[in-house]
Amino acid sequence: MGCMLCPRRCGVDRSVTKGFCHMGDKVKVAKAMLHMWEEPSISTRLPEKNDIAHIEAKKLCKKQESDAGSADNTRAVTEKSENTRVSVDKTEKQGGSGAIFFSGCSLGCVYCQNRDIRSGDIGDEISEEELAKKMLELQKMGAYNINLVTPTHFADKIAASVSIIRDKLKIPIVYNTSGYELPETIERVSEFVDIFLTDMKYFSPEVSAKYSFAPDYYYYAKKSFGKMLEAQPKVMIKDGLMKKGVIMRHLVLPGLRKDSIKILEDVSINYDISSFRLSLMSQYTSSFCPDKYGELKRKITTFEYQSVLERAVEIGYDGYMQDISSSTSLYTPDFSSQTQKL
Ligand code: SF4
Repeated sequence: MGCMLCPRRCGVDRSVTKGFCHMGDKVKVAKAMLHMWEEPSISTRLPEKNDIAHIEAKKLCKKQESDAGSADNTRAVTEKSENTRVSVDKTEKQGGSGAIFFSGCSLGCVYCQNRDIRSGDIGDEISEEELAKKMLELQKMGAYNINLVTPTHFADKIAASVSIIRDKLKIPIVYNTSGYELPETIERVSEFVDIFLTDMKYFSPEVSAKYSFAPDYYYYAKKSFGKMLEAQPKVMIKDGLMKKGVIMRHLVLPGLRKDSIKILEDVSINYDISSFRLSLMSQYTSSFCPDKYGELKRKITTFEYQSVLERAVEIGYDGYMQDISSSTSLYTPDFSSQTQKL
């Protein structure tokens, strides 16, 4: 039977031809590195009472409701977040997330920041044994976890690699996905994944069709999210680092704050929001988006991010927020650089 790893269900024999993800049947890795800019508790060690940024955001948003000067309070939220991050960074000497960026992607967003690797042109084909070796090398370098970035189309190969080194790997495995997953694939990877770091990108089928060619995105993302929570029903943090759990990551897009809010509301109706963390991101950058999607050719505004954040707080989500000034391409790893390539 051909490849049915993701909702595209291409059904192709990947040893002969490539599916929507642009990948054949060999694992292809664009880069392996210590990555310092994932969520707190994944790539930075937080103080024992973690989630400070969000807790402070909650307090400040409540204050905002009663104050007239909303602009000042918006600044206060971001400044507090920034201060928290700076104080954490000062304590960091090494560590970070042991990120392995896989070439290809089964979703393919028009505004993709990692366009170079989405196409599959960048990267080295390696065996399952070599992938296992990369994981051990990252562990030796001091990585807090093995962070499998865009792993869906290699899920079966990754499972084989992990089984080779299962008794040697002492750090958690993070499955860092676009969220466009089949529930049965999530069930399979749940055997070795400790942390699911999953996007929840769109609510509307029209929007997901337009920007990711996937009108069924939310249908599958929501179902698969349920499977992730079944596998990891509780967040476990030790010494400021996440060991187990689920993080739902959402990037606010220009003009789509209402779609963002619908996601937050629907997920809160269907799942126990105290059982996972939300990561609400503002780092959308338009420079990778083709001109024909003119409505996406701008940064999000403070109003857009703040309104989604306020709704998240109102609903009762717990997790991480982002300083809106971080909407820059500086956060995109340079895949042409050989630095830290293993
Ligand atoms: S993993 Fe790739 S080939 Fe397989 S179904 Fe998904 S897009 Fe198609």
